[in-house]
Amino acid sequence: MKRGARIREERARYSNMSGIAALGFLINGMDERKDDDGDTGSAFPRSDAEDMSKGARFVPGEVTLARRAGKKVNFVTICDPNCWYWEMPDGSRFYHYDPIVYRHIGLANGREEINDGNRTYFKDGPGHCPRCGNINTRGGVVKVKP
Ligand SMILES: [Zn+2]
Repeated sequence: MKRGARIREERARYSNMSGIAALGFLINGMDERKDDDGDTGSAFPRSDAEDMSKGARFVPGEVTLARRAGKKVNFVTICDPNCWYWEMPDGSRFYHYDPIVYRHIGLANGREEINDGNRTYFKDGPGHCPRCGNINTRGGVVKVKP
């Protein structure tokens, strides 16, 4: 398939695709060094762009490096559109943080929500996600070993 046709097909498949995901597909499509899987050897692995098209706003560096090295990393979105993780080949997980995740987890655990006029938080913290085990309610990315 011609490069342009492939990009058009991907645009159709991911109609709500973010700009960064579109850019990722474009860079990946032009990358001559990658293998047939679209990940191995690529500056912008195709799987990273796919994760972004599903809502990820960034991909942890360790995930990108693993994919570039030809390893399979799963982007697991079984929980909530804003609560997800990457599963590494050794079973480690990377949980991302988003303010929406904090609230999603707190409400899922039935915690009491407090609004003190400046901010909204949970009296005893949000806890861990009861569905996917997400422990990251503070920020950045948290790695959990298997
Ligand atoms: Zn979750």
